[in-house]
Amino acid sequence: MVAKGDMVYAWTSDAEIAKKAECGGAVTGLLKYALENKMVDAVLAVKKGADVYDALPVLVTDPKDLAATAGSLHCGTLLLSKTVKKYLAGAKDRKIGMTVKGCDLMGLYELSRRNEINMNNLLLIGVNCGGTVSPVSARKMIKEKFGVDPDSVHKEEIDKGQFIIEYEGGHKGISIDELEDEGYGRRSNCRRCKLKVPRQADLACGNWGVIGDKAGKATFVEVCSQKGAELLDKAIKSGAIASEAANPKGIEIRGKVENAMYKLGEKWRNKDFSALKADPWGTINKETSRCIKCYSCIENCPVCFTSADALKKSSYMITSGEVPPNPMFHLRRFAHISDTCVNCGQCEELCPMEIRLALFSHAIRVEGDAAFEPKLGAPAYKN
Ligand code: FAD
Ligand code: SF4
Ligand code: SF4
Repeated sequence: MVAKGDMVYAWTSDAEIAKKAECGGAVTGLLKYALENKMVDAVLAVKKGADVYDALPVLVTDPKDLAATAGSLHCGTLLLSKTVKKYLAGAKDRKIGMTVKGCDLMGLYELSRRNEINMNNLLLIGVNCGGTVSPVSARKMIKEKFGVDPDSVHKEEIDKGQFIIEYEGGHKGISIDELEDEGYGRRSNCRRCKLKVPRQADLACGNWGVIGDKAGKATFVEVCSQKGAELLDKAIKSGAIASEAANPKGIEIRGKVENAMYKLGEKWRNKDFSALKADPWGTINKETSRCIKCYSCIENCPVCFTSADALKKSSYMITSGEVPPNPMFHLRRFAHISDTCVNCGQCEELCPMEIRLALFSHAIRVEGDAAFEPKLGAPAYKN
């Protein structure tokens, strides 16, 4: 009987999923089992679109379509939480199984606190996340640093601290540290992210800690809730998922990697936030003066859900139609979101004017947490 707190190596017994999967296919195999056995009505996952830089969210209701969603897309910078609120009625009318990175999960928690999502209807398979690379920078990095045509790449992965590509004619890996020292690599919000193992999901899955003959062929699954235990237990008993106890040495290694990644996130926070220290308001004011008021940062933020129409109507401090907007436009937005900013990076990633919005709201959140609510300690998730 599987119980909360268990740690196992798991893999799928479905050959089609195994072929496409990242590390043995336990995640897709579990979602397929949940859908086939009506534990969920649909699965929200991510599939490869035109190429490896194109990650598409898909809602699957037919279990046979799930194999196409297997595999990890490290240029998949998309955030699934707002998709649930905007397009899936906050999961209020159906049960949805989802794969979630740490930022997807934190966004869901924040939306649930605002009553926009029914968490009870979600079955959450968390994936550990070392970070994602923006598709545009990934193409540039592959061309300039790897010396490879980005269009010839058919697989990418992040393994043992390296960004690795497979392309027509070979494969190549370069250390993430080296890439990041030269301004390439993960998105800046990902560098600062500290939620590496998403234990607030029902299961937390990843490749860290899988050693020996199962390395690359199984996923390390930590059981984080009763719901997760029930899913894994039933899937194992049915034969959909195979498993064995996690190697104790692997558990130790996973702990060490998680800790090292946490410290790395802290290092990047110090670096990024210190650079702002000299002139925070001057920097924010200068960068936001490029704003063209497209509202993308508002549309895509998981903790903000006004509409462009509502914003236009509330014009005590901001003149409609004015570009760039009065600095109050941004001050008001920061005041509204920053105390719950989850550092998902969507605002910055999707800003057409490349304003470092995530840096600003994340810095405000972290400083605010420390300065104004120190007794509250960490929230339900540690971001
Ligand atoms: P699969 O059966 O192959 O299923 C993978 C699932 O991930 C599918 O549901 C797919 O739709 C979904 N998915 C793919 N790309 C994305 C995306 N961008 N956003 C959301 N969902 C996505 N594990 C670690 O231990 N350390 C890491 O540093 C680490 N980094 C990761 C970074 C990313 C962006 C992702 C997506 C995963 C990462 N993982 C990491 C998890 C690991 O790569 C495997 O996903 C995990 O071991 C499960 O393997 P599997 O074969 O069971 O999954
Ligand atoms: Fe992964 Fe964190 Fe970046 Fe989200 S913000 S993609 S969880 S590293
Ligand atoms: Fe302005 Fe960028 Fe936000 Fe668009 S996404 S409103 S340009 S800050």
